[in-house]
Amino acid sequence: MARYTMKFGGTSVGSPEAIAQVVEIVKDFLAEGHELAVVVSAMAGVTDMLLESAAAAAARDRARYLAISDELRRMHTKVIEGLIDSDADRAAIDAEMEELLRSHVELCEAVYILGEVTPRISDALVSFGERLSSRVIAAVMQARALPARQLDSEAFIVTDNQFGDAEPLWGETEARVAGSLRQELDSGLTPIITGFIGATPDGTITTLGRGGSDYSAAIIAAYLDCDELIIWTDVDGVMTTDPRLDKRARVLPYVSYQEIGELAFYGAKVLHPKTVQPIINRGIPLRVRNTFNPKHSGTLVGARTQASATVIKAVTGIRDVSMLTVSGRGMLGVPGIAGRTFLASAKAGANILMISQSSSEQSFCFTVVDPLAQAVKTAVETELQREIQHNNVDSVDVLSDIVIITVVGSGMRGTPGVAGRVFSLLGENRINVLAIAQGSSECSISFIIAEADLERAVGKLHSLALETVENDRINGVGSPY
Ligand code: ADP
Ligand code: ASP
Ligand code: MG
Repeated sequence: MARYTMKFGGTSVGSPEAIAQVVEIVKDFLAEGHELAVVVSAMAGVTDMLLESAAAAAARDRARYLAISDELRRMHTKVIEGLIDSDADRAAIDAEMEELLRSHVELCEAVYILGEVTPRISDALVSFGERLSSRVIAAVMQARALPARQLDSEAFIVTDNQFGDAEPLWGETEARVAGSLRQELDSGLTPIITGFIGATPDGTITTLGRGGSDYSAAIIAAYLDCDELIIWTDVDGVMTTDPRLDKRARVLPYVSYQEIGELAFYGAKVLHPKTVQPIINRGIPLRVRNTFNPKHSGTLVGARTQASATVIKAVTGIRDVSMLTVSGRGMLGVPGIAGRTFLASAKAGANILMISQSSSEQSFCFTVVDPLAQAVKTAVETELQREIQHNNVDSVDVLSDIVIITVVGSGMRGTPGVAGRVFSLLGENRINVLAIAQGSSECSISFIIAEADLERAVGKLHSLALETVENDRINGVGSPY
């Protein structure tokens, strides 16, 4: 018998057929005698719809948010009607759903009157997605005699008040997960928990960032001291690249925590970038599996590194980023300019994705997401006002329509020539590289190219990753566990 936390993503709970599949998976694990905590996302598309309802309310478009409310009702009713037979059971969950839909519309009405959505209200509004899905899924399971019990995660994921991207307060969260949530499991119940949502110590709802249900599940897996965390999604595992970018993408049987950390940070949407943080120190293995193909063993993620002879295992690309360059001959030898620039960027709310400086010290560049680029430019110019006046800094330039490409593979450490291979390949294909950075973990290299070159670059580099997978298969390099 083992204890698992498993998380089902938006597509995995996105239709009656998908939820029926989820129920089968849970049933099979329970039948084998395992203990489960189940974390669920909102049905696919619902979080976006809720955000749209908030924007519509702020723009005083009542018809739009009412239409969204109707669509939410239709989606969840379809699941209830498709999967719950008894009239009484249906009526009970229907009433719960109506209550939530009513609260959602009430909140939209408040935004309508105010004419604006604060981040705090936005979090309260988007939380309805997981609150609805978890209740409907738990009701379906109960109707099939599974010992499921819906739980709202704000009762035990305690966070700071960084709305939209909240961080757990670890001590309090640990106490509650290891305490009251653990008791649910001990009493033989299978909790069906809202992903994505937390609350401040005074009970105000927060969210953990888009795609944050993976992170919720990892936090819960860590403090329930689970034997494994399983992320059930809509692909067979972590792949050599996003299958939407290149159809040749193949599943990687094993990657290390570090490798998945780099992949997720640099755009592999399959996992939220923070997912491995809570489980890494406890060494809890993570498995990424396909809800729609449960026979496939998926990708195992663990602590050991498994270097492949040909090193490069995966390629990612991030769109919608801009590169800022700070340059000036007078910067040479003036200490602190980079530090102040990054601090100013952070104050403007920007997360810096990549930094690169040439040894001449006459310029350095860094990359932020598009919507923040102008705000960061202004913040940095204000911070460096004196240096600009004294001509020590010439300018802060923004370059858009670029992408960050990252190649990942733990064997980069100590394998000479990996960067050489990558950049010769780009050169041979006349793809111009604008900036380069190597991850400090030495298992990734990132670089910037024009957006127009994205698909070609990923295609070429992906061939290297495919070669690695194939060599590993022939050489029998599998999981180190
Ligand atoms: P979920 O709703 O289950 O959380 P997501 O849409 O967030 O699912 O993540 C799964 C998707 O991530 C896949 O459908 C795939 O298109 C995308 N993806 C991007 N990069 C990768 C990768 N390297 N390996 C697997 N999937 C990837
Ligand atoms: N429903 C949330 C989102 O779409 C969280 C998640 O699915 O992980 O971002
Ligand atoms: Mg996701």
